[in-house]
Amino acid sequence: MTRAVDQVLSCRELVELVTDYLDDVLADERRAEVLAHLQDCPDCLRYLGQVRSTRHLVAGTPRPRLAGHDRAAAIEAFRLWCRSGHAGRSARGRGLIPPG
Ligand SMILES: [Zn+2]
Repeated sequence: MTRAVDQVLSCRELVELVTDYLDDVLADERRAEVLAHLQDCPDCLRYLGQVRSTRHLVAGTPRPRLAGHDRAAAIEAFRLWCRSGHAGRSARGRGLIPPG
């Protein structure tokens, strides 16, 4: 990973923005910064391609269906995991922690 002197974003910052970039939800200025970084950074361009390929593969995979009791058990296990502090602040901030 490299960072040219005129790059606004570091590789680490770009990695954090890849999903938003692919979802096309970045502000125009941020999107331009991502594009500028990708022009000069083959490592991040390769990473973007890998994430894009993975998303295409996952999109074609059927969603698992859980029976009612399995679903309830999975939600309860996730709730306990969140309460144990493993989920961290970012999961709480993004509303990933289930209520209860
Ligand atoms: Zn980079």
